[in-house]
Amino acid sequence: MIRSLKSALLLLGSVATLTACTTAPDAASGAGTASLEPIAGQPSAVTASTGTAKNVIILISDGIGFNGWLAADYYQGLAGKQSYQVARPDGTQPVLYGMAHSSLNLIDADGNVLRSASDVALAKGAVEQGYDPTTRWNRFDNTFAGDFAPVSMSYTSYTDSAAAGTALLAGRKTANGRINLDWSGQQRFRTIAEIAMDSGRSAGAVASVMASHATPAAVIAHNVSRNNYAEIFNEMAASELDVIMGGGHPLFDASGNPVNPESERAYRYVGGSETLAAMTGQAGLNGFAFIDAKADFQSLADGTNVPERVIGIARTSSTLQAGRENLPAADTPSGMAFNPDVPDLATMSLGALNVLNHDQDGFFLMIEGGAVDWMGHANNMPRYIEEQIDFNNAVDAVIAWVEANSSWEETLLIVTSDHECGGIWGEGTWTNSEGGAVAADRDPQSLVSARYDPAVDTFNAYLAVQDRGQGNLPGFQFASGNHTNELVPLWALGKGSNMFAQFARSDRRAAQLWGAQYGWDGRFVDNTSVFTVMESALND
Ligand SMILES: [Zn+2]
Repeated sequence: MIRSLKSALLLLGSVATLTACTTAPDAASGAGTASLEPIAGQPSAVTASTGTAKNVIILISDGIGFNGWLAADYYQGLAGKQSYQVARPDGTQPVLYGMAHSSLNLIDADGNVLRSASDVALAKGAVEQGYDPTTRWNRFDNTFAGDFAPVSMSYTSYTDSAAAGTALLAGRKTANGRINLDWSGQQRFRTIAEIAMDSGRSAGAVASVMASHATPAAVIAHNVSRNNYAEIFNEMAASELDVIMGGGHPLFDASGNPVNPESERAYRYVGGSETLAAMTGQAGLNGFAFIDAKADFQSLADGTNVPERVIGIARTSSTLQAGRENLPAADTPSGMAFNPDVPDLATMSLGALNVLNHDQDGFFLMIEGGAVDWMGHANNMPRYIEEQIDFNNAVDAVIAWVEANSSWEETLLIVTSDHECGGIWGEGTWTNSEGGAVAADRDPQSLVSARYDPAVDTFNAYLAVQDRGQGNLPGFQFASGNHTNELVPLWALGKGSNMFAQFARSDRRAAQLWGAQYGWDGRFVDNTSVFTVMESALND
């Protein structure tokens, strides 16, 4: 109530300013007075065309481009049919863009690129390369490390999740490793969560990996290095966030078995042993309820026991499911049963929404499917697909929650990634001297040799991953064990989603590869525009 009054006053204030400017020359003739009449009736029309979103939700699947996205969609039999890819029951249409995501690269005084973390003290500047649709398709490996060499040397590498998270959530480019600080580590960036909370909304971060990992860290923390997990977690827990959820539990392994931590280092993902003791102690930490049992995540999702603020650390040392071992055989993409003692991302997301929805003013929520990237690094397609299905289930749950508890008239939803990982391409894109390049045996040696090596392999053609039917792995090859500069998809639904159009450029070649499956025309935006759109949606 207070908020809407404030908005109305702000809006009237800006209209009044506009009126003053446009009518000043005619004020003496009396036209200024007349023009007040229609303008006084305009606020609702202005609100309808852009308007303020009460809630902003961004779901980030970490490390997945168009080919990887299609791979999981084909496995699910849902390419172009996922909940966020189709018109909603109220007629709301999603928009789809590609997204570029380059970071800054540090250079020394002579302009040499600093490739080692230990050289950072030598940095005298930072250079951005960006994604260039006119040169990207000239050479197959143009999006890999050391890519885009238009002249004698390349400044470009791929982004990491820290720089990408900073761009998405604070709208500023920075060097890899930085969390919401500029390349020099001096300037602090204000994040979308801080902006949301300053406006009276609540905010939260949910991840299927450690709660202090780069992407959830980028919601609120500021640090020169993403690797300072304990500092990052403590900054998050000392912030005004109302929800912090993820893995990284020091008392369990990656399969959910209890362990005794052997050193303080084991506690780093949750801020250290003192922070854990405070969180789990009687008094609690900073007003947060603490949960770690699967049943408690479930009751949060069911809405049966919803505290004002919550920290939820699932009982896994790292990711929810991607690192599990020694569990029975089961009918899953990887053939191994899931760890039954941790919640899935959908359950965590619903719990977070129920907590944040206490705030009548609205909220900002970031949800990360964090381990897709890890399985891309590992070139493990079955578990990569498992992780992306878990992410898709979370998006489904969030959309169902919005349609039951809010609406697309007051909520902006963005579904995207932060970068590509693994260089995933269709089978036959390149062949090696053995006549192929798909390592299905999971042997680390053959995984590495299956990757693309321009010195010995033959590039044939750019091929999208091939649909082999629901429940079957698609036709695919992993070109890399690391991130690439390839465009990633971005879907947006609801209030303010139309604002992406003003930032779009076009990559027609990319649309030829992936356009038909998703009805995509090749338009793409830069990752910083995600922040701009979210900020505009919150503040208008
Ligand atoms: Zn990664």
